[in-house]
Amino acid sequence: MPAIIAHGGAGRYSPDEEHERGLKDAVAAGWRILESGGSAIDAVEAAIVVLEDFPVFQAGFGSAMNLRGEIQTDASIMLDDLSCGAVAALTAAANPIKAARLVMEKTDHVLIVGEGADHLSRSYGLESRDLCSPERKETYDRMLAKLRAGEEVASYLPRLREVAADLSMGTVGAVAVDSDGRIAAGTSTGGPMLKLPGRVGDAAIIGAGTYVNGNGGVSATGVGEPIIKHIIAKKAIDLISHLGAREGIDTLMEYARINDVRLGIVAIEENEAIALGYTTDAMSWASMKDGELKTFLSTGIGVRKDDAGDKAETGDSSGKVLET
Ligand code: ASP
Repeated sequence: MPAIIAHGGAGRYSPDEEHERGLKDAVAAGWRILESGGSAIDAVEAAIVVLEDFPVFQAGFGSAMNLRGEIQTDASIMLDDLSCGAVAALTAAANPIKAARLVMEKTDHVLIVGEGADHLSRSYGLESRDLCSPERKETYDRMLAKLRAGEEVASYLPRLREVAADLSMGTVGAVAVDSDGRIAAGTSTGGPMLKLPGRVGDAAIIGAGTYVNGNGGVSATGVGEPIIKHIIAKKAIDLISHLGAREGIDTLMEYARINDVRLGIVAIEENEAIALGYTTDAMSWASMKDGELKTFLSTGIGVRKDDAGDKAETGDSSGKVLET
């Protein structure tokens, strides 16, 4: 039986009706493909494209800007036979997830960055777009002013972390299993606001932001650097392989809490069990399984809104873990 889950990022933000609408549309787009016998990889791409096109998420259109005010996006996609592709510091492609898929299907490589990634996208006719939304520009100007506070650029850098901690995140991702039992996952982001030019985050790193094998697939979100250092996506899959989706994610949340990794993760196990967890204030997701749509928005102030009813269980202090 097919299943799909999509997320709209973990961090400190307040998911609202727009996030909910975007996530529902994304899952519906993926589900239409799965329902008609389509592949997990097509469903994941379709879901992520919807989220990239939704300005409220910080991926594709509406991505956050780096310190210089430029947008550089990261994305990755993977299939259960370990085929995968990723792009980083991409500037113009409207849908970075499509560029990641190009790397996977049209090249012998795993990760292509910067100008090379832009060139590949253009060569294959991917749509280009100015990814800067007015809302994000307004946030950038405000945050830059706060960061600057009358000092020279070089002295901003030690304060980036402090300022950036206040910034909302909105990375997107999806995991799907199709009716042939194939599993795919993908992740796409503009990265954190005010990142240094050229910075690459976990969303572009196979094993950190995205991982899939025959046992399951995951997409992670949150603070990218610790997610890379702890190879979170691969760790999640290893835990799921041994413990199953729910207990695997539960154990991962305990590990993340102990090691101060602020993240969110969504997973599908090969038996179609869906699980997710987060150690941040906020996380948003939607899923579709057995024809049933569920959504969840954690507002970041401890208020929970979901359609999952009592089928969603809240975990303990080791990090919030839910299972559908
Ligand atoms: N993980 C992303 C990054 O660090 C950001 C996020 O998930 O919000 O680039």
